[in-house]
Amino acid sequence: MHKPIKYAEKAVTYAANAAWVVFDKLNSINPNPSFTPKWSDKPLLKSWEKTKPTLGWPRETDSLCPKCVPEARREILDGKKDWKDLLHEKVGELKAQIIERDGKILMVKECPVHGKFEDVMSIDPAFFKHLEEVFPGRDIRAHNDSKLHNHGSSTITHGRGSVLTVDLTNRCNMMCDPCFMDANQVGFVHELSWDDIKQLLDNAISIKPRRQMSVQFSGGEPTLSPYFLDAVRYARKVGYTSVQAATNGIEFAKSPEFARQAAEAGLRYLYLQFDGIGNAANSHRAVGNLFDVKLRAIENAWSAGIDIVPVTTIVNGVNNEQVGRIIQFALDNPKKIPFLSFQPVSFTGRDEEVTDERRKAQRYTLSHLAHDVKNQMGIGEPIRDWFPISFMATFSDWSDLTHGPEATWGQLSCGCHPNCGVGMGVMVDKET
Ligand code: SF4
Repeated sequence: MHKPIKYAEKAVTYAANAAWVVFDKLNSINPNPSFTPKWSDKPLLKSWEKTKPTLGWPRETDSLCPKCVPEARREILDGKKDWKDLLHEKVGELKAQIIERDGKILMVKECPVHGKFEDVMSIDPAFFKHLEEVFPGRDIRAHNDSKLHNHGSSTITHGRGSVLTVDLTNRCNMMCDPCFMDANQVGFVHELSWDDIKQLLDNAISIKPRRQMSVQFSGGEPTLSPYFLDAVRYARKVGYTSVQAATNGIEFAKSPEFARQAAEAGLRYLYLQFDGIGNAANSHRAVGNLFDVKLRAIENAWSAGIDIVPVTTIVNGVNNEQVGRIIQFALDNPKKIPFLSFQPVSFTGRDEEVTDERRKAQRYTLSHLAHDVKNQMGIGEPIRDWFPISFMATFSDWSDLTHGPEATWGQLSCGCHPNCGVGMGVMVDKET
C-alpha cells in the first residue's frame, strides 16, 4: 500500500510534465538567441540545436579490430611503422553491426584478416533503448584545438571531454592481475617530467569550450611520482576544481602526513581502487591485508579533508556479487563517500590476450550493473532510475545559462555516446 504522499507526488509529476509541453511549445515560437560566454567562442546551444549520432538498431557503426590494433602498435614500437600514419590511415578500423538477438544487444564485426568478433553491449534491450532516448545531444563543437585534437579519425569533435587523465608514471607498488596499464611489467619506466606535466595542464586550458573537467592523476601509482603533490597544486592553480588521484591507497594508508600534504595541495578525491568488502574479496591482488589498507587510507584521507570514491573493477562471475555489499558500505559511510564508481573490466594491458570464451563469460555491461543493483539491493528500476553519463549535460546547460556570459569556465559536461558503457544510477527509497 503506497503512502498518500506518493499519490500527491505522482499528481505533481503529471502536472509538471503537461506544463512543460505547453511551455516548450510557446518557447519555440520566438526563442531568444543564445549568448556566447567567455569560456567559448561559440554560443550556448539550444536543445533543438544539439545534434545526435544515428541511434537505434539494427544499425551500422564504426569499430576496431581487436587484433589489428595491437599488431599496429607493435609495428610502431618496433620502428616498422610511423605513428604519423595514424593521422591519415584508418588503422584497424572496420564496420560493425549493432543487432538484437536472443534478448541481448550485440555488436558483430568481421575483419578480413582476423575473422569474426561478437560482443554483448546490453543484456536488456529496453534499458539500452531508454539510455538512447534520454541522451540530450552533443555539446558545443570543439574549437581553438586544431593542434591538440589532431588524432586522425579519432579526433574529438564536440566538447572537450570530462576527465583529463594524466598518467604520471607507470611504476607501481603493487603488481595486480588485471592491470590495464600493465604497470611494472612492460620492461621500461615511463614517467612524466615536471615540464611535461605543466605543458599538459597548460594545453588543456587552452581548448575551447573551456569547461571544468575532472583532472585525474593516474598511473601506475601516481603518488610514486616525485611531482605528484606539485601536479595537484598546479592543476588547482590553473583553475580545475575537481582534482583526483586514481590510487591503490597505499601511500595514504602509510602516512596521515602524506594525506594532509595532498589535501593542502588541493586534492579533492581519492579515486580509490576497491574490489570488494573484506580481505578475501581483495586477495586476488596478492596483498593479504589489502582491505585493511583501504580502510586505513579512507580514514587518513577523510581526516585530512579528502573525499573518497571507491572504484570497483567488475568482472562478471568474479566479483559482481560484491555490488550490493559495496553500495551498503557507501550508505554506511555517507560523510566519507560521496559516490561510487563501478567500472566494467576492460580487456587491455595484461588482459589483452583474453580468450573469446573468457571475454564472453566475464563481459560486464551497464545493463548487468543496473540489474545487479536491483537484485542485490532491491533498489533502482533500470529503465527509470538509470541515465547515460551524458545526461549530466542537462544540469550543466542550466548552470551555464544561470552563470551568464561573464563566467570564465563552463560547467563539466560529458558528451559520451549513450551506448558508452558509462552511466549513472539514481538511488531511490524502496517505496518510490
Ligand atoms: S595498483 Fe593499479 S596500477 Fe598498480 S598494478 Fe594494480 S591495477 Fe596496475
